[in-house]
Amino acid sequence: MKNYDHLIFEISVPGRVGFTLPNSEISGYNLSSLDASLLRKEVPALPEVSELDVIRHYTNISHKNFGVETGFYPLGSCTMKYNPKINEEIAAMKAFNSIHPLQKASDTQGILRIYYELQSMLSEISGLHSYTLNPFAGAHGELTGLMIMKEYHLQRGDFKRTKVIVPDSAHGTNPASATICGFDIIEIESTPEGTVDLEQLKAALSDEVAGMMLTNPNTLGIFEKDIIEISRLVHEAGGLMYYDGANLNALLGIVRPGDMGFDIMHINLHKTFSTPHGGGGPGSGPVGVKEFLVPYLPNPQINKLDNHYFLDWNKDSIGSVSGFYGNFKVWLRAYVYIMTLGKENLRQVGCLSTLNANYVRVHLEEEFNLPIKGFSMHECVFDGLKDQSTGVTTLDVAKRLLDYGVHAPTIYFPLLFHQSIMIEPTETESKQTLDSFIEVMKKVAKEAITDPQMMKLAPHTTPISRIDEVYAAKKMILTYKDYLKENQ
Ligand SMILES: *Cc1c(COP(=O)(O)O)cnc(C)c1O
Repeated sequence: MKNYDHLIFEISVPGRVGFTLPNSEISGYNLSSLDASLLRKEVPALPEVSELDVIRHYTNISHKNFGVETGFYPLGSCTMKYNPKINEEIAAMKAFNSIHPLQKASDTQGILRIYYELQSMLSEISGLHSYTLNPFAGAHGELTGLMIMKEYHLQRGDFKRTKVIVPDSAHGTNPASATICGFDIIEIESTPEGTVDLEQLKAALSDEVAGMMLTNPNTLGIFEKDIIEISRLVHEAGGLMYYDGANLNALLGIVRPGDMGFDIMHINLHKTFSTPHGGGGPGSGPVGVKEFLVPYLPNPQINKLDNHYFLDWNKDSIGSVSGFYGNFKVWLRAYVYIMTLGKENLRQVGCLSTLNANYVRVHLEEEFNLPIKGFSMHECVFDGLKDQSTGVTTLDVAKRLLDYGVHAPTIYFPLLFHQSIMIEPTETESKQTLDSFIEVMKKVAKEAITDPQMMKLAPHTTPISRIDEVYAAKKMILTYKDYLKENQ
């Protein structure tokens, strides 16, 4: 508990003030014209601090954090690429800030145009006919896509299809979303090469299967070479193909899920398309469909007639999945990102992110176990240190990296291996950054042999050192007041 002592931040001093209220913008209106019953009887118990106190407080806290703007952040399956500042500049423009979703379509033609054009760009990138930008996250997109899948079968009178096939390498949200949507899961195991086992797939298919959820490259960073055959088999059995497009980096400008036979997919704008994420911030999970599924997209859809954009409400739709049209400021940033790069440079994202992952993989094969050999796509997965005799685990390696100013990769996921370390460098990192990361990883592997005890206690230089994660999960202290109570 000593760890937290330097965080003491009770800096309130009675009577200290850090603000002045502006005059009301509505003429003839001020506090005294409010109805007395609406006014507080007592002063609220808020911290009394000066502006400088507040600035120092938050600036100091921000220095205890780690972000993509602090250092290398190779968190696999999260695509922690740099978020260009031009996205922020445009999202902060007054024209976009002073608008309300209940304004008439005739007043908001510019916003609707951005919506429409972004869905068209995503269609072209992914090879699907139409998009909705309404879902608020990847998992929300999955749920929306599965609702469309369900609606399609139901409206055809095909009521038996209650199961969804999910490979064991899938992201955890896949089975979770399918379960929330009311489907039962059929899990199929991966082959030793990390791909879908075709024989198991055949055995799982029946007229009760609504569809299959897949991502390609999969969560191991491996490309499913049999994808056309997989799609054919699922379609032949009457099911639909769902693509988890959370991380689209490796594919950009090179292959398209629509061309691989997928009918529905979601995209995480907050991964591939450079909008900020992490810490539970706002996201956006657009869902795209083939033409025959367009009627089921959520309401409202944004359409165009001549040069006029309008909200379209479809009677066969699954209904609304969001308040209004989704996270506008998130898809605005993604729109700016795509426009800034253009077609040719978008393709470079695919090439460079793949090159970077392979560069890292090849340089670490000596020190770390590589359970699945061969070419990686946008990320690579190791199964712990090669030398397992020291007792140093993947968790210890991840914690020690923090001492060198590197964010830990994703660990213990995918679940296929016991000591998974999943590294996704992304395309925005330079060769120099990758080289110094490789050097740090090699150094850590050496330290595991020379000083395993030190590794067990890492990190040593961060504001908070090794925490007891079980205790932290069981005994959550989420506010400063709770902390004080706990430490009286
Ligand atoms: C991140 C991710 C998701 C979930 O996206 P959220 O926005 O976190 O809900 C789904 N699938 C894969 C492969 C992912 O990497």
